[in-house]
Amino acid sequence: MTDNAIVYVGLGSNLENPISQIKQAFLALDALPKTHIKKQSALYRSKPMGPQNQPDYMNAVVMLSTYLLPLDLLDMMQAIEHQQGRIRTAQRWGARTLDLDMLLYDQQQLQLPRLILPHPGLYVRDFVLYPLYEITPNLVLPNGKKLVSYLR
Ligand code: ATP
Ligand code: CA
Ligand code: CA
Repeated sequence: MTDNAIVYVGLGSNLENPISQIKQAFLALDALPKTHIKKQSALYRSKPMGPQNQPDYMNAVVMLSTYLLPLDLLDMMQAIEHQQGRIRTAQRWGARTLDLDMLLYDQQQLQLPRLILPHPGLYVRDFVLYPLYEITPNLVLPNGKKLVSYLR
């Protein structure tokens, strides 16, 4: 029996009642096999990245405990996005009902075509940094730096 992993997931939504999309995604993540939510942040509002002709986003971050491997968890996160009606378009950073980004998986650093860890946006996005700080203020990143050093 291997140890559980601690995983942080960033949630975002700006279509079809974003607050209820985020709450539904909390339930779906907690219901994944071999996985449960240990902490969840409040909901935060942010301006869209990229195309500005779309609604504001609601964001949150959860801390999961899981026995799933990174790519299996990614598959299941993408299935949740699909279940909640996400439609993928060619437009980068376009409007979506649900986005689930794997921010951190323990201290793993990965560069696979389908999975980059830590998520490259983590260091530069306030809508990730602040909810992450809310739930784990003393977090240290795989590069050895404290999360708090990235807060502006
Ligand atoms: P961004 O990744 O900049 O936040 P996005 O969330 O809009 O943009 P998506 O269209 O949701 O991007 O995802 C594009 C691809 O990113 C996915 O197919 C997935 O395989 C890949 N990916 C790489 N690393 C990660 C990660 N850490 N978490 C989630 N997806 C990832
Ligand atoms: Ca994203
Ligand atoms: Ca994503």
